[in-house]
Amino acid sequence: MKHETPIDHLIKHLSHLPGLGARSARRAALHLLQKREEKLMPLIASLQQAADTIKICSSCGNLDHTDPCRICMDPKRQHGALCIVAHIADLWAIERTGSFQGRYFVLGGVLSALDGVTIEDLKLHQLKEKIAKEQVSEIIIALSATFEAQATSHVILDLLKDSPIPISRLAHGVPVGGELDYLDDGTISTALKSRTGF
Ligand SMILES: [Zn+2]
Repeated sequence: MKHETPIDHLIKHLSHLPGLGARSARRAALHLLQKREEKLMPLIASLQQAADTIKICSSCGNLDHTDPCRICMDPKRQHGALCIVAHIADLWAIERTGSFQGRYFVLGGVLSALDGVTIEDLKLHQLKEKIAKEQVSEIIIALSATFEAQATSHVILDLLKDSPIPISRLAHGVPVGGELDYLDDGTISTALKSRTGF
């Protein structure tokens, strides 16, 4: 077997990153090595800083350089509304819109037979604890519209069935800018069922 050089090593590590295949990993490695001062060195410093400072928020599960994270500590955010998401990426996606002013809870995934995610893998116990401990006046289940995510929503509903807190979920239906003619039948019928008044 061919001896792995430091360049091979770098390409291998880069190719394991999401969205980077072998070809783009080679391009990225070459780019970094050719622009040592402008690209490689700042990247090393940034990776080191991230490794040293970024932690998981013990309250919501977000990643930040403080624990609790800045969202959990922000006094301007409504304490009452709690938005349950599957992944940190979903939290970041909602934050990017700037349209939610409450707080979050990251479940850590959705149930999936394929990926071997069971009820025990989700942070349901911590969720229940957080709701009991903090003053939550509204719960929003912001999971994807997949079968697995919907099954997970039902597990959450079951977990909170004795709670008087109102629970809602994200609307399912016609995407903004979407044309009816191009939507699949499931989306159209769900949009009809979850229609809202003007
Ligand atoms: Zn937090």
